[in-house]
Amino acid sequence: MPQYRAPIRDFEFLLNEFLDVSQYKDLKGFDTIDQSLISSLIAEGGKFCQEVLFPLNQSGDDEGVKFDKGKVSVPKGFKEAYRSYVEAGWPSFTCDPEYGGQGLPEVINMPITEMICSANLSFGITPGLTHGAYNAIYKHASDDLKKKYLPQMVSGNWSGVMCLTEPQCGTDLGLIRTKAIPDGKNAYKISGSKIFISSGEQDITDNIIHLVLARLPDAPAGVKGISLFLVPKILVKDDGSLAKANNVKCGSIEHKMGIHGSPTCVMNYDEATGFLVGEVNKGLQAMFTMMNEARFYVGIQGLGLSEVSYQNAAIYAKDRLQGRALKGHKYPDKPADPLVVHPDVRRMLLTMRGFNEGARALACYTALQIDITKRHPDEKARQQADDFVQLITPIIKAYFTDAGFESTNLGMQIYGGHGYIKEWGMEQYTRDARIAQLYEGANGIQALDLVGRKLPKKTGKYLRSFFHPASKFIEKHKDNEKMAEFNKELYKALGVAQQASLWIAANGLGNPDEAAAGSVEYLRLMALVVMGYMWAQMAEVCIQKLDNNSSDMLFYQAKLDTAKFFMKKMLPYVYGLLASIVGGSKPVMAMKEEAF
Ligand SMILES: Cc1cc2nc3c(=O)[nH]c(=O)nc-3n(C[C@H](O)[C@H](O)[C@H](O)COP(=O)(O)OP(=O)(O)OC[C@H]3O[C@@H](n4cnc5c(N)ncnc54)[C@H](O)[C@@H]3O)c2cc1C
Repeated sequence: MPQYRAPIRDFEFLLNEFLDVSQYKDLKGFDTIDQSLISSLIAEGGKFCQEVLFPLNQSGDDEGVKFDKGKVSVPKGFKEAYRSYVEAGWPSFTCDPEYGGQGLPEVINMPITEMICSANLSFGITPGLTHGAYNAIYKHASDDLKKKYLPQMVSGNWSGVMCLTEPQCGTDLGLIRTKAIPDGKNAYKISGSKIFISSGEQDITDNIIHLVLARLPDAPAGVKGISLFLVPKILVKDDGSLAKANNVKCGSIEHKMGIHGSPTCVMNYDEATGFLVGEVNKGLQAMFTMMNEARFYVGIQGLGLSEVSYQNAAIYAKDRLQGRALKGHKYPDKPADPLVVHPDVRRMLLTMRGFNEGARALACYTALQIDITKRHPDEKARQQADDFVQLITPIIKAYFTDAGFESTNLGMQIYGGHGYIKEWGMEQYTRDARIAQLYEGANGIQALDLVGRKLPKKTGKYLRSFFHPASKFIEKHKDNEKMAEFNKELYKALGVAQQASLWIAANGLGNPDEAAAGSVEYLRLMALVVMGYMWAQMAEVCIQKLDNNSSDMLFYQAKLDTAKFFMKKMLPYVYGLLASIVGGSKPVMAMKEEAF
């Protein structure tokens, strides 16, 4: 049976020591935040994930979701777990107090999100999407819609879902066919079919609020003619109570490789009543609020699964006896040494850990920047933070999910053949991790977003939001001997990132294929360098702690050792990635289509 221990100490390190979140008193909602509140919230969230959600993970995978005549039921135990989740107030954590929220920062929510993804990803998808739908409605809907729908979503009594995909339209949303006809009474009749809608139907909330992209009859073709509609499963009276069912039906559910506990639904809208969110034909911009948040959240899914996979692989590697250490027996009294003595097993474990802890630091750092964009009193500070969030969102989505999947695969590898056997639990993490590379914009599309939109933005303004602070950090430590081994590697890698950015900007302008052909490599390269920056900063904190003989030396030393592994064994991949980028588009585009 797999195990899961919430990585509380690492979150405390990141929030209290690395970022020192309690110093941001001038941000709205941060005034009551101190280290002990942070620790107790994380501990409470961790306990819930370990004790309530994790025990349902394997059984939920085995049992899966059931469909019967339009009704969908989630696996045994999920409903009760959701009730406990709601009663503990987790859905309202970061929401606006005006609608019943607690107004707490995203940076404290990030650990809870990761722990839910580790403990039970299928369970987490419904509340995760609700949070995104809340944000889209909060930012773009009229006051009337907000008052009517948000309080119940904030409490968790109702959920929210995102309805973009249709059979002929996945990546290319310009192909959407779902229709919206004004009903002359301030509402619209929505007709069409959406596929692959996560939690489109389920039996854990009293109502489901569908955010549906559709077209008005006179809308321009393509993405400029898409509007966003709020379509409740059950219609809502003016006093907020539930009325009759809307014409929203689940036609079937999909049978999938992973996330078996999460319903993936075909949803049919047959003149369903919908309400416009935002402006006519500006639906995609409004939906991007939800999608950007969802992209960050999906990135965390990759990290969460990688973490739980690592934890089990590490336990197994210390327990399983096979072969002898190359430089002599480590445990002569035993019939063989444990797997953890072998360099290749250590390489796999440290690759997982180097990713997990670097990605976790970057996720917490980004969540803090998201808070700054929403809560800082100074417009310039908000803008600077937003530049970074814009740049990093496709990187987090694609890199965390690619590396997360590879990491769960390494976790399986460490178990040898047992990793492939269901009862050990490791193959579930790999199956569950795979979807995150596909949904919320396939990872190739994230890379195109990075090179096509984010890199050229205002002649590199978004890029500078990373390059400038990283260069400053390197400059600050240039004579610091203790930091030399981190600083030098970061300096070289940052140079590579700048070279790659210049190459793409120079060559992609005249021929977009040049940018697109190297876009995935560029995204990975940038991810590694940004994580290198996180690792160098974490190393700085650990060096100080070790110098001061702080307690918990094992923790700081292990973090420093992982930082060294990242700098010497993971970051150097940037050199190969650069070589591939400047290899250009010709080798990619030369082959004739008929030869494939
Ligand atoms: C389990 C599951 C849950 C989902 N949940 C939701 C949900 O809740 N709501 C929702 O609306 N959708 C959902 N989806 C749909 C998901 O977001 C889409 O499957 C995804 O966006 C890709 O669309 P597609 O499958 O049509 O692939 P396609 O768009 O056909 O793409 C196929 C491949 O081609 C590549 N490609 C496509 N166009 C380009 C291009 N211009 N340049 C380069 N490469 C390109 C893509 O990267 C991809 O690798 C879900 C899907 C699954 C499987």
